[in-house]
Amino acid sequence: LEQTLSIIKPDAVGENHIGEIVAHFEQAGLSIVAMKMIRLSREQAEGFYAEHIGRPFFEGLMNFMTSGPVVVQVLSGENAIQRNRELMGATDPAKAEPGTLRARFGSIVSANAVHGSDSPVSAAREIAYFFDQDAVL
Ligand code: ATP
Ligand code: MG
Repeated sequence: LEQTLSIIKPDAVGENHIGEIVAHFEQAGLSIVAMKMIRLSREQAEGFYAEHIGRPFFEGLMNFMTSGPVVVQVLSGENAIQRNRELMGATDPAKAEPGTLRARFGSIVSANAVHGSDSPVSAAREIAYFFDQDAVL
């Protein structure tokens, strides 16, 4: 089984969509094997999105990701990384397939409800960024 890191972003948490999003993962066959609610510091957000430092949207991304609590979770399942990306839909909610999490709960590209790791290398880095090895079941 593969693991991936998922984040329910501040917009979706603030709009009370945690339960529906978690239910969507579980109904799709992805199991939650670690989970916590935290408020990201600027430093944590920068380290997490370090690949985007210098992009024009970076400051907005930092402001958004630190604007309220997030739910950080590890999903486990067959092909979990790609499955989660499919369940999320396109980065821009306006372009996301109907029924995907970003189509349902995102609003614009800079407030798009969920994050998911995009490769095995990023999944390993992102899981270790938020969880000790013994905290992932
Ligand atoms: P995430 O990494 O959050 O799962 P993603 O992998 O679909 O999203 P990335 O290219 O990694 O997309 O961008 C990271 C985040 O930065 C996006 O989720 C989005 O909120 C924001 N972002 C990306 N491109 C833009 C843009 N052109 N304008 C505004 N925000 C953007
Ligand atoms: Mg990404």
